Amino acid sequence: MKVQLYNTLTHSKEEFKPIDPNEVRIYSCGPTVYSYAHIGNFRTYVFMDSLRRILKYNGYNLKHVMNITDVGHLTSDADTGEDKMEKAAKKEGKNPYEIAEFYTKAFMDDMHKLNIDMPNIISKATDNIPEMLEMVKEIIKNGYAYETSKGIYFDVSKLDKYPVLSNNKLEGQEAGARIEVDPEKRNPYDFAIWIKAPENHMMKWDSPWGPSYPGWHLECSAMSRKFLGPKFDIHTGGVDHIPIHHENEIAQSKGATGQIPANYWMHCEFLLIDGGKMSKSLGNIYTLKTLAENGIEPLAYKLFCFSSHYRNKLNFTFEGVKSYQKALERLRNGYEKHLTGTATVQESKLKEYENKFHEAINDDLNIPLAMSTVWEVIREENKSVQYAKLIEKFDEVLGLDLKNYKKYQTKVDVPEEVQKLVEKRTLARKEKNWAESDKLRDEIKNLGYSVKDTANGVEIEKIL
Ligand code: AMP
Ligand code: ZN
Repeated sequence: MKVQLYNTLTHSKEEFKPIDPNEVRIYSCGPTVYSYAHIGNFRTYVFMDSLRRILKYNGYNLKHVMNITDVGHLTSDADTGEDKMEKAAKKEGKNPYEIAEFYTKAFMDDMHKLNIDMPNIISKATDNIPEMLEMVKEIIKNGYAYETSKGIYFDVSKLDKYPVLSNNKLEGQEAGARIEVDPEKRNPYDFAIWIKAPENHMMKWDSPWGPSYPGWHLECSAMSRKFLGPKFDIHTGGVDHIPIHHENEIAQSKGATGQIPANYWMHCEFLLIDGGKMSKSLGNIYTLKTLAENGIEPLAYKLFCFSSHYRNKLNFTFEGVKSYQKALERLRNGYEKHLTGTATVQESKLKEYENKFHEAINDDLNIPLAMSTVWEVIREENKSVQYAKLIEKFDEVLGLDLKNYKKYQTKVDVPEEVQKLVEKRTLARKEKNWAESDKLRDEIKNLGYSVKDTANGVEIEKIL
């Protein structure tokens, strides 16, 4: 079955044709590890996970690289402001390498919690400095860059076309609207590929231009070429990367090798919070930890991401995501019921469901549509192990770890106060004091918990 992917480069959905049919080469822009990644960032990595899993489902082998940006990403995405790593280091009283190590680990832990299928190669920018320096030299040699007092700048006027991904027209735009006016630059949209380090800068390397460090965009151009060669299949990131980071990556790669490095450029739309942007000043930056504190599992957040196509904006609200926590539980229960079912299903029926699911995912990762087939199978009246096996197959793409559902049935951490009320209620019920039992149930509810009397005893749940 053909795989269709939307390509930002051509602004259209195209049939995916890998350069090497035996191995699809992918590069994903990874995190800048100066603080905890937020749930918006993770929407983009859930999209990356789905892409990986769908290609594998279609029988492709992958060589997938993701970078860890631990130097050079300035507080503006262009080339002004402080290095985000150094800023965090000063704030936390640590050195930038300690900051990078701490937040890289936190990022990896969260990726595992989301059951994200990890790229084969994950490499830190600071481990690839020689390759970056080499690329700067090539770009200069080819006549695409020049030196200023601040660093080495890419000359966009030397390109046949800039920008190529976005529909942005440079003409007619105020130079200062998107970028700071710098009198040393030849063109307003020229950008730094290599930055001369001020005296007190912590992360710097020797170079023909003195102690300096790489620009963020250069990292990805150099690392993708090092691990995947000058031309590979797919490049991924969030939509905010289209107008600056990816334009500049393409410019640099063209300056060094004469080629646009990837054939397909794929971008995940933004997660909005209560209809707007996440920002520190609004205090609405949520992490997986914030969600867990509100009784929402990382995998419920993943399921929430599946409610919208990756090219549509997705609005996060606590109410919205809580309903996906419930949905995840229904999904696990439904799977369990099929697992213990005894009905026999015709092969043609299974095939029909499988085709519907497969067609949806191959249509530019239409997971919301594929989910409707998953729910149809879950809701099938006839409970059958064959359906359970089909759901397991679908889960190769979803990555909700349904097979290991028991692992997630850990009891909620019940506060002592609630525990005591539950014990009193059990006693009241033994004494057939129903009025007292009901009163205690209400008190427990007011503390945010519900009690259910089952054959296995009392079950306590946090009310979401
Ligand atoms: P950063 O660590 O800032 O480089 O971002 C990591 C990834 O998250 C990038 O691919 C961004 O494009 C993406 N990203 C940032 N904010 C959001 C958001 N609100 N929704 C979806 N993706 C985002
Ligand atoms: Zn990148």
